[in-house]
Amino acid sequence: MDCLFCKIINGEIPSAKVYEDEYVYAFKDIAPIAPIHYLIIPKTHISGANEITEENSALVAKVFEAAAKIAKAENIENGFRIITNCGDDAGQTVKHLHFHLLAGVKMGWGPESVNAAE
Ligand code: 5GP
Ligand code: ZN
Repeated sequence: MDCLFCKIINGEIPSAKVYEDEYVYAFKDIAPIAPIHYLIIPKTHISGANEITEENSALVAKVFEAAAKIAKAENIENGFRIITNCGDDAGQTVKHLHFHLLAGVKMGWGPESVNAAE
């Protein structure tokens, strides 16, 4: 399958790993938008949050377990935000379910944090 993140999981494309277990892989985003910007992905290919089902939803729990472990291991003590973009309106560019973990900065919240695309 021609999927960028599947290639990152199997090592075909190099990445800066921050965490890995049986179910998930986490690595540094190539174009960080915060001082800490990791991507956490299930090792199973799921194209996006709109494809989460009763059969595969346990993997989402594994992603959040990994996020908590990463936050502890990396001493992210002041909090973090997890975002998943799904579909064109949200700006999903890679069609393999992924969760952005953002930290290291005090983040805004409100209408202004949902910037309209140009
Ligand atoms: P999306 O826009 O789909 O929510 O997020 C995709 C993310 O993947 C972007 O933040 C982008 O910077 C990141 N990304 C795209 N290609 C690569 C890559 O080859 N390596 C890494 N580490 N991140 C990538
Ligand atoms: Zn994939």
